[in-house]
Amino acid sequence: MMRRLRRAWRAGAWRLAALFAIALAIGLASHAPIACLLAASALALGYNLLRLARFARVLATQRLVPAANGSGVWGVIADTIRERQRLALAGKRRMLRRLHDFRDAAAALPDAVVALDREQRIEWFNAAAANLLGLEYPRDLGAHLHDLVRVPRFAEWLHGEAGDPLADLPSPVDAERHLSLRLIRRAEDRSLLVVRDVSQLLRLEQVRRDFVANVSHELRTPLTVVHGYLDMIEPEQVPEYESILHELRNQSRRMTQIVEDLLTLSRLEARDDLPRERINMRPLLLALSREAAALSQGQHTVLVEMDDGRDLLGSTKELHSAFSNLVTNAVRYTPAGGRVTLRWQREADGGARLAVADTGHGIPAQHLPRLTERFYRVSTSRSRETGGTGLGLSIVKHVLQLHQARLEIQSAPGAGSTFSCVFGHERLLEPLALAGAP
Ligand code: ADP
Repeated sequence: MMRRLRRAWRAGAWRLAALFAIALAIGLASHAPIACLLAASALALGYNLLRLARFARVLATQRLVPAANGSGVWGVIADTIRERQRLALAGKRRMLRRLHDFRDAAAALPDAVVALDREQRIEWFNAAAANLLGLEYPRDLGAHLHDLVRVPRFAEWLHGEAGDPLADLPSPVDAERHLSLRLIRRAEDRSLLVVRDVSQLLRLEQVRRDFVANVSHELRTPLTVVHGYLDMIEPEQVPEYESILHELRNQSRRMTQIVEDLLTLSRLEARDDLPRERINMRPLLLALSREAAALSQGQHTVLVEMDDGRDLLGSTKELHSAFSNLVTNAVRYTPAGGRVTLRWQREADGGARLAVADTGHGIPAQHLPRLTERFYRVSTSRSRETGGTGLGLSIVKHVLQLHQARLEIQSAPGAGSTFSCVFGHERLLEPLALAGAP
């Protein structure tokens, strides 16, 4: 292109020089050189002005400058612009194709996707969103999503800051279908709502729960019978089977405990809420320390520290059982001579925690995230030796969830463990005697 431009420029310059030479020659011959030179200049200027005006019209009226639009320098300029326009158009077409591909892919997703602007108005949604949320195209574009999806909890969640997924929301189209929702923040405060139909998953989960509950229930009676008969046999009557009898009794007791724990878990899983009773923590902690001392049989030091005088709001029975699990574990996993401390502490955010600290074996870091899974044990043999079922911490987690509380575990091998139940301030009550005090 540069060579062509140079050539065109040179040819143009020669043409102009020839025009002025001819004008000068005519001017000298007619004794009016200045007038002839002026006429030649006007001709050259007029011609270029005309080309410029034509070119401006082409640019204004046509998307693409036509090919071979003029010769000389003007032709080169036109071809350069045409080439640039062609490249820009090709780029635009490529972008559009990609945009369409992307929209097609999003439209074909089995999950509902709704793009929201910063005011949470609908910018775009796919076919699954129409199906799961009852949105209609194009009627609902630009509408506020919370005006269209009128289901309890939805608007509150959508405007919330937490960003946690919303699990198990009934579909506004069909209350039998259950949805799981996730809000993903995009640039400029816009967001993307992704909704998945989890009805099938919940049904399977329910089948699993029912199965475990039914099996546990069915096992209860035969186990009681076996246990009962084993208890009736005195080891002195069958001295040769004494050790076998002892083992049989141990195992049947363990099985009974596993069945009881499974039934407790099923019962907790089936509940959304627990009674809200005022729990005075001092007597509860003292009762727990007595349980620890009884289990320890004097082999451990058991301490109680009350840094917070407030009462707790929750189910006395379930919380006692959860705390008792932690205290029992602390004694079971701490060698003789160790210390178990029960601490009721105020949290900086107004909540409180019940911490059960021991100076026992401790737990390697890689096990910590999995400890509350059913039957997860760091050491199966140690758990069995001490009569564990592997379900204790699962039960604790469920009880705490039903109190909107969480379990925190700090532990390191050789440095002991601290299991803490952390409650929010809405679960705490000033003690009755002080409630009316200024
Ligand atoms: P288990 O009945 O086996 O004690 P849990 O669910 O109560 O079951 O606990 C799960 C596992 O967590 C235990 O097997 C044990 O390995 C570990 N664990 C629980 N509490 C403690 C503790 N205080 N110190 C050390 N390890 C513990």
